[in-house]
Amino acid sequence: MREQEAERKQIEKTALDSAFGKAKEALDKLSGCAGVFGSPTVFGTLTMTAGTVLQTLVKSNAFHFARGTNFPFKNGGVTSYNETVIAGVRVSWSASITLDPALIDNPTELALTMIHEAGHVLRGLGFTGGDFNDDDGPNQPDNQQHNNDRIREECNKK
Ligand SMILES: [Zn+2]
Repeated sequence: MREQEAERKQIEKTALDSAFGKAKEALDKLSGCAGVFGSPTVFGTLTMTAGTVLQTLVKSNAFHFARGTNFPFKNGGVTSYNETVIAGVRVSWSASITLDPALIDNPTELALTMIHEAGHVLRGLGFTGGDFNDDDGPNQPDNQQHNNDRIREECNKK
């Protein structure tokens, strides 16, 4: 059991690292891809880019795969963004992003999903502009489709 768990973790880490490479390259090199999320407007975030925020998420192990097979969004994810604000100033933030385990075997979709979920964190951090609609939960399937379409158009070029 222990060994299986370690092996699974390694497979997940390899998938995430590989997809991160693709996702970071798209955000850094395709201006239209990062442009889907606009730009930072809030003090303390102005030197951030979509690519550096994604990097922070990966380094802080924010991404993990759901257990089991009944994930609510096919090839999707769920992002929980948290921040601590004192006297109107954000002093810390973190995120936890749960991914459909089916994405482990689908590097292209995993990279696009990592970009999509990072988009919710970018909105949390105050990035404004671009087409990304933060309000794309289960009751807003049109918004979710729009977000996925835009990310696929702008971030999946070679
Ligand atoms: Zn979303």
